Amino acid sequence: MKIAVFSTKPYDQTFLSLANQSFDHELVFLESRLEEQTVQLAQGFSAVCVFVNDMVNRQVLEKLSEQGIRLIALRCAGFNNVDIKAADELGITVVRVPAYSPYAVAEHTVSLMLALNRKIHRAYNRVREGNFSLEGLLGFDLHGKTVGIVGTGKIGTVVAQILTGFGCEVLAYDLSPNPTCEDLGIAYVTLDELLTQSNIVTLHCPLTPETHHLINADSINQMRDGVMLINTSRGAILDTQAVIPALKSGKIGYLGLDVYEEEGDLFFEDLSSQVIQDDVFSRLLTFPNVLITGHQAFFTDNALKNIAETTLDNITAYEKTGHCENQIKLETCCVASVDAK
Ligand code: NAD
Repeated sequence: MKIAVFSTKPYDQTFLSLANQSFDHELVFLESRLEEQTVQLAQGFSAVCVFVNDMVNRQVLEKLSEQGIRLIALRCAGFNNVDIKAADELGITVVRVPAYSPYAVAEHTVSLMLALNRKIHRAYNRVREGNFSLEGLLGFDLHGKTVGIVGTGKIGTVVAQILTGFGCEVLAYDLSPNPTCEDLGIAYVTLDELLTQSNIVTLHCPLTPETHHLINADSINQMRDGVMLINTSRGAILDTQAVIPALKSGKIGYLGLDVYEEEGDLFFEDLSSQVIQDDVFSRLLTFPNVLITGHQAFFTDNALKNIAETTLDNITAYEKTGHCENQIKLETCCVASVDAK
């Protein structure tokens, strides 16, 4: 199949080209993000392949449909950036990579917890400057602390397994409890109970209309003073504006983010010579107890290999049969996502 691969970086090209030796699709790598201004680039292709910040809204889908595109292959698990209802109406099939390495994201999540707690980001800079003072670097034992996991699917479950190994008491909140977590002895509680009892709250549910700003000023108020909040799922699950006063007051004692609700204008690009125009993001960077990574939790060699192989396998299955087991079906996906900005 001739595929326009949007939002590609050199590492995408490396892993997709290597995997394609077993598939032999015609891959054309485009650096541009798919959005209304770039959708014309898909002219002449049979399918498009996109990533987390491509904007696959109704307008883009209509233009793709006019150009004869029948397949959208996501190189990721989350599909909040695709209007699934519009795709369904237009007869466009959307496939994704539902699991490529929950370990990659879970391990990064725990890295953020450990780094924030022991102030590794600050210690690194201090030692390089010959400052060996420990003042301000005091941490706490994770052992015995209560960690609340919101969403115990593939990633949340691995986080639970790691933290159980650390001797944490793990609480969970999910619409459907996971037997693997129950076997670990993890208690499922209401979201209110999780927020009020946890020393650390970590988010692993998908972004849907129901989870949009799930963590907001009210839910932050419910949390313990000095709570550690981690989000490696999707930015808009957290109301970022609400986080800033909570950081200033000390309500939130630590904030670890791998995702940000306006990340589409920032992440995956080298903007180091530019002035960041996003004042909320810039304010977050001023706090010593905030650690932000630019959507890199998935970024391991294992994950990129799996993403490339599954993406091409999905495309081949669709090409041969018109179906794919990793197809996102309107009736089974929890919502018709419209958060495709
Ligand atoms: P998953 O589908 O296996 O698990 C999601 C869990 O969330 C499910 O158990 C589901 O029941 C639960 N859930 C859904 N709606 C909920 C709600 N309203 N309240 C509470 N729980 C709810 O997904 P996963 O593979 O574990 O991935 C989780 C999320 O992580 C993805 O949706 C994606 O947004 C994000 N992600 C981020 C990265 C990254 O690099 N930062 C990489 C991969 C995935």
